[in-house]
Amino acid sequence: MGFISVAVDGPSGAGKSTVARAAAERLGFVYVDTGAMYRSIGLAVCRRGVAEEDTAGILEALPGMEISLRYEEGAQHVLLNGEDVSDAIRTPQIAQYASKVSAVPEVRRFLLNLQRDMATKNNIIMDGRDIGTVILPDAPVKIFLTASAACRAERRYKELLEKGQQVTFDGVLADIVRRDLQDSLRAVAPLKQADDAVLLDTSKLTLEQSIDAVLQIIHEKMKG
Ligand code: C5P
Repeated sequence: MGFISVAVDGPSGAGKSTVARAAAERLGFVYVDTGAMYRSIGLAVCRRGVAEEDTAGILEALPGMEISLRYEEGAQHVLLNGEDVSDAIRTPQIAQYASKVSAVPEVRRFLLNLQRDMATKNNIIMDGRDIGTVILPDAPVKIFLTASAACRAERRYKELLEKGQQVTFDGVLADIVRRDLQDSLRAVAPLKQADDAVLLDTSKLTLEQSIDAVLQIIHEKMKG
């Protein structure tokens, strides 16, 4: 029997990862955060001292880079050449690097097989920007999860403050708007709702309501 794939795409800070992770846990599916893979490549590039705009430098960094995922008690850990970088990738600087490296076609190709491979071996909920459009175009369930930029910035701002990072609301909002623009306007695999994706706007929903809404969409699709 084949495995079930649920594709969850949407802009930064829409709550994709929190919602998708919780829904996966309730369904007993594996949760795959593809943004973490791009962030890991961004981190590797940043550590080499390569500027985020330096495509040649990014390409030079790719060979020999190994990204893998490991699951501990259901939680995804991302490994860069064997090192657990799950925490190190969660900074605004690395988010910006991730957005830049993800516009390089070779970087996307590098991760495509890894992502598709995971879907052939597990029931998964995979979140990202191009899962429903490029990575898993045949996924039986596709959700485009979004929220207003102000709501997304508010949530991200609180999250970063809780982690003790020095940020301002305006700075976080500017980062989100810039990243959305970069992600939506790039030539390869731009952020875009798949024609057959269900749109879910979580601006006015609590986390619990968003998780329920996702579970309901999955149940409806699997029934039909
Ligand atoms: O989702 P997250 O904010 O962790 O993603 C970081 C960056 O990685 C995004 O801004 C986007 O540019 C890129 N990304 C992507 N395709 C994906 C997942 C993330 O281009 N499937």
